[in-house]
Amino acid sequence: MPIHSPWRADFPGILALEAEGQIYLDNAATAQKPQIMLDALLGYYASGAANVHRAQHLPGERATRAFEATRVKVAQWLNAETSEQIVLTRGATEAFNLLAYGLEDRFQPGDEVAISALEHHANLLPWQQLALRRGLELVVLPLDAAGTIDLQQAAQLIGPRTKLLAVSQLSNVLGRWQPLEQLLRLAAAQGAITVVDGAQGVVHGRHDMQALACDFYICSSHKLYGPDGVGVLYSRAEALRQLRHWQFGGEMVAQADYRSAQFRPAPLGFEAGTPPVSGVIALGASLDYLGSLDGAAVTEHEAALHAKLLAGLAARDGVRLVGTPEVALASFVVDGVHNADLAHLLTEQGIAVRAGHHCAMPLMQRLGLAGAIRVSLGLYNDESDLQRLFAGLDKALELLR
Ligand code: PMP
Repeated sequence: MPIHSPWRADFPGILALEAEGQIYLDNAATAQKPQIMLDALLGYYASGAANVHRAQHLPGERATRAFEATRVKVAQWLNAETSEQIVLTRGATEAFNLLAYGLEDRFQPGDEVAISALEHHANLLPWQQLALRRGLELVVLPLDAAGTIDLQQAAQLIGPRTKLLAVSQLSNVLGRWQPLEQLLRLAAAQGAITVVDGAQGVVHGRHDMQALACDFYICSSHKLYGPDGVGVLYSRAEALRQLRHWQFGGEMVAQADYRSAQFRPAPLGFEAGTPPVSGVIALGASLDYLGSLDGAAVTEHEAALHAKLLAGLAARDGVRLVGTPEVALASFVVDGVHNADLAHLLTEQGIAVRAGHHCAMPLMQRLGLAGAIRVSLGLYNDESDLQRLFAGLDKALELLR
């Protein structure tokens, strides 16, 4: 029996692409949206848009209530203690930059910031630039052959000079869960601030912030079947108090005169200016949708599809996986074939996969690769998509070899 997704019909974008002859296998870059989210997005505008947190009038009050309801839903999704621990940013990338500026005072020249070799540019460049501004040392934790941060080496490299550890929960290239618990323990033993990049991890399964015990956890709405333009920064309550304000403007201020100002505490103190009101409200609808699904069934569906994806790739001559992915995606190269040529021929056949460095150039350099093709799955993908992928791959490779 071929694997079907019972949720496919909930995603008009997938159906529209299908009607156009396209299959979508680039879910780690961004996911398609459920109808309920589109309804919420349109509903906000169609029933009267208004700014949040400032107006007394009915539409303003309604928008504020819906906006704040999403904050509560995000807090529940992540099992934060309170919704005050959730800062809504304009994307995951903005949240990393918020931290790199907001924590800047915490560092002295010579302090170390530890990241891993597999980080996305979003969890590398803000720290690299902070290190350059403050004279810090960026320490890069190496990987083992499977694509997991090497714990033995991490234990050597995380030491008394480590002031911050920032690592990914699930690699967007290698598809491997990282040993967060052990890494966070190593960092906590040194009193270091801990940051987890949950941009990929949050999409697969539920993650409990109180159990994880990191200081900060960052993710994006658009990969979680929500709208783009919204990011989430979860902070442990004490960690939140260490943050300095970083963007200045309307709504984040408690009191201002021409010469000085006092700022609001989190979360609003870190949400300067008009936030992405419609997007935040629509993210709430996506979480409602995801919350209504049987999470175990989704995980099982994705795992079954992932096994077929890996088997299909393994069955093809010259196809080499990059790392040993555990979930949802597979990056690969083909001996003697340039990834851009292959991607081009797949695109021509209506197969949407990602090619290139996947915003992790240093990782690619370390792996000695010019780039790779990445196939990443969403909950609406099914076996027919994989059949199209493999047929397209065979045809492209026949032309290229
Ligand atoms: N970290 C990882 C692991 C990612 O995959 C991404 C998105 N490609 C990001 C961070 C950045 O997310 P965004 O582009 O939504 O800001």
